[in-house]
Order: sequence, then C-alpha cells, then structure tokens
Amino acid sequence: MDRRGFILGSVSGAVAGLSVGGFRALAQEAPKPDAETSKAKAVLKLCSRENIIPGNSLAEKIENMKKFGGVGMEFLHGWDGKIAEIKAALKGTGIGIGALAFGSCPLIDPDKAVRDEGAAKLKEMLSKAGELGGTGVIVIPRAKAKDAQPGWDEGRKILMDVLPAIGEHAVKAGSRIVFEPLNKGETKFLNRVDQAAELCKAVAGPGVCLMGDFFHMAKEGEDDEKSFLAADGYLHNVHLASRGRFLPGQDDLSFVAGFRGLKKIGYQDYCSLECKAAKGTDPMIEIPKSFALLRKQWDEAIV
Ligand code: MG
Repeated sequence: MDRRGFILGSVSGAVAGLSVGGFRALAQEAPKPDAETSKAKAVLKLCSRENIIPGNSLAEKIENMKKFGGVGMEFLHGWDGKIAEIKAALKGTGIGIGALAFGSCPLIDPDKAVRDEGAAKLKEMLSKAGELGGTGVIVIPRAKAKDAQPGWDEGRKILMDVLPAIGEHAVKAGSRIVFEPLNKGETKFLNRVDQAAELCKAVAGPGVCLMGDFFHMAKEGEDDEKSFLAADGYLHNVHLASRGRFLPGQDDLSFVAGFRGLKKIGYQDYCSLECKAAKGTDPMIEIPKSFALLRKQWDEAIV
C-alpha cells in the first residue's frame, strides 16, 4: 500500500463507527489525502467517450484515437458485458481505460429498500470495474421516481445510509465510485464539484471520489479553478465539452482557469471528451483541432 492508501485507510479506520446524523464525526477534520504528499506534476491525458471517436469497430476507434494523440477511452453502458473484448482490443495500443459509465442510481430514494437495491447493483458494477480496470464508475445519485428527487440537504443525509459500505466495497474490488455533479436542469441533487467533495470528505476513504464536467460547471457558473481546488485529493475524472456541449473550441468556453486548478492539485487522471461535433462539422478534422486547442490552453494555464 502506498502512503496515500495508508493514510486513507488509517483515517477511514479511525472514524469508523462515529457518526452524527449519518455523517462521520471526524470527517471534516480528516487530512486531505493528496495534501499529505508532495504534489506530482499534473499531466494532460486526453481521452474520449468511445461513441465520439469515429470508427466502425472498437479497433478502428482506437486507431483513430491514437492518430488524434489521445491516450484513453471512456466506456458507455454495456461495458460490463464486453470486458474480455475491451481488454483484448486495447492490449498493446497505448490507449488506457478511463471512467466507466453507470449513470443514475437510486441511492437517495426515500425508500430504503430501493436504496439498498441500487447499492447492490452498484456494488456488482464496481466488482466488474475492478476486473476491467480504469478510473472508476461514474455515478449520478437519484431517487427512482422523478417526483421523489430530494434536494441537497435531504439527499446527502439519505445518501450516507449506503455510501460508506459502497466505498468499502469499491476499495476491495479495486475500483472507486466517481460522483458526477450535473447542472440544475438535470438534477436537484449534487450540482457542484464542492458538494461532491463534501460527500467524499464525509466518507473519507479512497472508494468514494468525484469528477468535474466543464459543461455542467459552466452552466452552474462555477469558478473552475476554485472548484478543482476544492476537489483536491478526490478528483479522478474530468469531462470536456464546450458551453453548448460541442467539442472544446467550437464555442467560446475557455478551459484555462480549470486547467490552472488541475495543475495546482497535480491532477493525474484523464480529461475526456463528452460532447459532439457541431452540426455539419467532421469529427475526423475537428477532434484533432480540439485536442490542439486543449493542449494550447493547458500551456496557457500558468501556475
Ligand atoms: Mg459529464
């Protein structure tokens, strides 16, 4: 176990059993995992959701990704049924496995039986993610019925009913959950990166982490640099999209402030396209242009 893992294990063990209103009592005082270690130099590892890269097969998509200079691929729903196929296709290509989609999971449903069902399914997917590898499993906590969606205060209390056990399962499985905050147009719960960081701190273990999506962050008016600083120690994926959810560079959204935040926290995981090419534009031409713009803005993010 490395130093970070040891610290997390110690913190997690130290606070086990202590809870106030469902939250671990000492969580707020727990040291930030990465703050304990000297920061590695941040790296820009460009990645993409598999559906955005042109190609008639996974092998063709991987070939194109290599041409574009990307180094990772994020997989959509159904990855759990293609573990051997994905492993074989990526072997020796230099393209790594990014985050794995899970999506909505009823972890904040008012009904405990529904929460437990959601937690069980998520644990099953975490076990499969441990088998495949990759950054972790992207999770959107929701209630099952649309009209039962709790807001932030209520939802986080409900979530703590199942979250610590899921985090422990994730660690055992060799994976992690990666909470994705969405804009208010898409969810009433978990809209900002600092809120996701609050959840991670409450659990204080390496199995519960978070990500940021530039599209949602722009919609919520987040200060990208500040938000990523708030996620220090827990950030394990970033989604890249423009303001209109097109390829970066296809509208005016700048990534410089966010990249400054990533550099300050020594970010080591993927930055992954989750968007589409604007209507009438050719992804074979536009993705390389977008990657070039991202590299330029990464260089412009001086810390
Ligand atoms: Mg996203």
